Amino acid sequence: MKHWKKWSAEEQEQRITAALKDNINYNHNICLGIPASRLDPTVFPDKASFLKDAPLLRCYAQNPNHIGCHTLGESEPFFKGTQEIERETIELLSVDFFRAEENSCDGYIAGGGTEANIQAIWIYRNYFAREHAAQPGQVGLLCSRDTHYSMAKAANLLQLPLYEVQTHENNRSLDNADMDKQLIKARKEGIRYMIVVANMGTTMFGSVDDPSVYTEGLHRHRFPFRMHVDGAFGGFIYPTSEPESTLTFANADVSSITLDAHKMLQAPYGTGIFLARKGLMQYVLTEEATYVNGHDITLSGSRSGTNAVAIWMILVTYGPFGWLEKINKLLYRTTWLCGELDKMNVRYYRHARMNIVTIDANCISPEIATSFGLVPDTHGNTPAWYKIVVMDHVELDHLQQFLKSSRTFNS
Ligand SMILES: *Cc1c(COP(=O)(O)O)cnc(C)c1O
Repeated sequence: MKHWKKWSAEEQEQRITAALKDNINYNHNICLGIPASRLDPTVFPDKASFLKDAPLLRCYAQNPNHIGCHTLGESEPFFKGTQEIERETIELLSVDFFRAEENSCDGYIAGGGTEANIQAIWIYRNYFAREHAAQPGQVGLLCSRDTHYSMAKAANLLQLPLYEVQTHENNRSLDNADMDKQLIKARKEGIRYMIVVANMGTTMFGSVDDPSVYTEGLHRHRFPFRMHVDGAFGGFIYPTSEPESTLTFANADVSSITLDAHKMLQAPYGTGIFLARKGLMQYVLTEEATYVNGHDITLSGSRSGTNAVAIWMILVTYGPFGWLEKINKLLYRTTWLCGELDKMNVRYYRHARMNIVTIDANCISPEIATSFGLVPDTHGNTPAWYKIVVMDHVELDHLQQFLKSSRTFNS
C-alpha cells in the first residue's frame, strides 16, 4: 500500500479542519461573484455545539462545491482545500485498490455508479469519433445480460447499439459462442468500434467477468475497443478478496473503472467514483463551460465536496487491515449461509469471493422471500431468482431465522 493507511480520529480532525481553512469561508472572506454560500444558517445553525466534534458535518455546513475534475488542469480556487482530499482519494483508489502507477490516473466523485458508467461510455464514444473518425452508428456497446441497466441508459442517451452476451445459467460466466454471434451481428449492422463493459460484481449475482473472454473475442473479430470495468457493487470487495484480479489498471486492456462508495463502503448517497487512465477525460471537455475555472470534464456539474471527505474518512478510519477484516467477516457469513443452503439442497449462485447469494426462486416461497426482504430479479413477471446481499447489518442470527422459516415452509 502506497497511500492507504489508518488515521486516528484526531489526525482526521486536523486534516479536515486544515482543508476547510483552505476553502473559502463566506463569514470571513469577501466573495461577490459565485452563486454559492454556506448552508442557510437560518435553517441549519452553523454555531450548533455538536458541529465542533463532527468534522464531516462542519464540511457539510460549509458546503464546498467540487464542480469539475481535480486530478488535472485547473479547478475553482474557492474549494482547493477539500478538492485536495478528493484528489488524494482518487489516487489512493487508483494505486492501492487497482494497481495503477502513481499519478497515472484521473477521476472524480460522481453522483453514483450510473453517472460514472455513462461518463466512461461518453468518453469512448468521443474517442472513437475523434481518433478513428467513427461515424454515428459505427460504435457499439458490448456487455453481458447480467450487466447493470445503466448500460442500457448510456446506450439510449449516447445513441449506441447495445449488444448483450449471454451468460451460462449455472456459473454466470460469459458464453463465448454467443459472443461470436453478437460480434458477427454487430459487424453486419455496420459497427466498426466497440466499447466493452466488464463486470466486477453484477448487481443480481455478484458474478465477475473474465475480461480476457471479451478481449480475445474482440481481437478474433478485429474490433478496436476500449474496456470499462463496472465495479459499482464489487469495487470495494473484490480487490480485497481477490488479490489476483485482472480487473485492474495492471491489465493494459482496462481503461477505466466505476466504484460506488454508497454501497459496500456505507458512504452517503452521491458517492459514485470514476477512475480513468490519464489522457481520457479530455475527450469530454465541454469548452462552453467558460465560467468554470478549468472548464468541466464531468457529466454532473456542481456536486458536494463533502462526499469526497466522507469517502476519505471511511477509507482511513479502517485502513487496509481493518477493511480486510470487515470484508472477511462478510464473506464468512456468506460462506456459512451457503453451507446451510447446501444441506437443504437449495439451488443458488454465489461467486466465492463475493457476498451475494442468489437463490433459485423455485426453492423458496415468495411470502418468505418478501417477509425477509430478499430482492427478486424482476418485479414484473414471475421471478427466477431472489438475492441476499450480506451487508454489515445482515448477521448470522438473521440468516438463521430466514433458514428456519424456509425449512418450515419446504417440509
Ligand atoms: C448499483 C450498480 C450500478 C448503479 O449505481 P447507482 O449508484 O445506483 O447509480 C451500476 N452497476 C452495478 C453493477 C451496480 O451494482
